[in-house]
Amino acid sequence: MKSAPSRAPGAPIFKTTDYQLPDARGHFGPYGGAFVAETLTHALAELNDAYARYSTDPEFLDEFRYELKHFVGRPSPVYHASRWSRENGGAQIYFKREDLNHTGAHKINNVIGQALLARRMGKPRIIAETGAGQHGVATATICARFGLECVIYMGSEDIKRQAQNVYRMKLLGATVVPVESGSKTLKDALNEAMRDWVTNIEDTFYIIGTVAGPHPYPMMVRDFQSVIGEECLVQMPEMTGRQPDYVMACIGGGSNAMGIFYPYLDEKDVKLIGVEAAGEGIESGRHSASLSVGIPGVLHGNRTYLLQDANGQITETHSVSAGLDYPGVGPEHSWLKDLGRAQYVSITDDEALQAFHDCCRIEGIIPALESAHAIAYATKLAATLPKDQIILVNLSGRGDKDMHTVAERMGLDFS
Ligand SMILES: *Cc1c(COP(=O)(O)O)cnc(C)c1O
Repeated sequence: MKSAPSRAPGAPIFKTTDYQLPDARGHFGPYGGAFVAETLTHALAELNDAYARYSTDPEFLDEFRYELKHFVGRPSPVYHASRWSRENGGAQIYFKREDLNHTGAHKINNVIGQALLARRMGKPRIIAETGAGQHGVATATICARFGLECVIYMGSEDIKRQAQNVYRMKLLGATVVPVESGSKTLKDALNEAMRDWVTNIEDTFYIIGTVAGPHPYPMMVRDFQSVIGEECLVQMPEMTGRQPDYVMACIGGGSNAMGIFYPYLDEKDVKLIGVEAAGEGIESGRHSASLSVGIPGVLHGNRTYLLQDANGQITETHSVSAGLDYPGVGPEHSWLKDLGRAQYVSITDDEALQAFHDCCRIEGIIPALESAHAIAYATKLAATLPKDQIILVNLSGRGDKDMHTVAERMGLDFS
């Protein structure tokens, strides 16, 4: 094992673990890879070369750290949810406050890394796909900051449901392109963005929002997000005198979870738990729990656990939180599941909503509905553990964006 470099909060150091994955072709065991049309292989190879070069370039890393500190406001604090822990009566619950980042979630960490890479590669035009609009807003934000052209693909159904985020992207100077094909949602927006990329490879960089897609995206996004766990490795001993017993995060595509898990992979005593969306219950069939009940297959350029029917058709997914509503999951999570290094569980809409309300009332923090899934599971588990155990939960984002959804559920007229 390599000697551990000194870690400072806000100073991400890529690939320092003795866990060296993916391999050169992007495989995490039998998962990952790059299943794409021939027209994209050149673009991916170019991206792979650029990433290999800049991810070890001290000047590039300095630039990345500078943006994380001065634009995002990192390091984000670790916080002891002391009232909650006391009321719950069991283990101590801590939150990693990604909700305090500029733009209100973890997504900005990755987007900054990829935008800096685009700049180094001389690509002035950025494209991205978005579902609920969170990744679109983060991308539009960083394009404004760096003076890059920004085109966001979004299903027309999602555009109707997420009017406020569409308006935000426009305020930030982005062009939002409605996608009318298929179910007019995230997966169709992704296909359309891929099509744009193939046609405009010369001047265009495609920023993917989670640890999915073809190699090198799952690795690259994980590395950019690993600043979350790197900070915790320093902050937890400062606050509690040691590392936590459990680290927990919600799983949509899996980027906030990989970001906090990755630096902890070598800490063998730390248990890692990913929390998927069980929606209306696993039995109902209306959920997004790809790791819990999915079957391996290929989607969006990589092999991973997927929600599919007997004929391999991707099935409809559901979650009260738009950010978890995805039929696949990053390939590295599939491998960590098979290895048994991480455990994956699920939480229903109702349980997440309960945790959302409790968090508001007991801690004075309005969490994103996605993050509320991780909090809900932490609460369940904490109650079964002794008081001296420590659970660290990644609070991936703030819940301001979810006011409408929650109010509607409660039968309140928000407008
Ligand atoms: C997008 C989003 C998620 C889900 O995405 P991951 O890639 O699984 O992290 C979780 N929380 C928030 C706040 C989000 O915006």
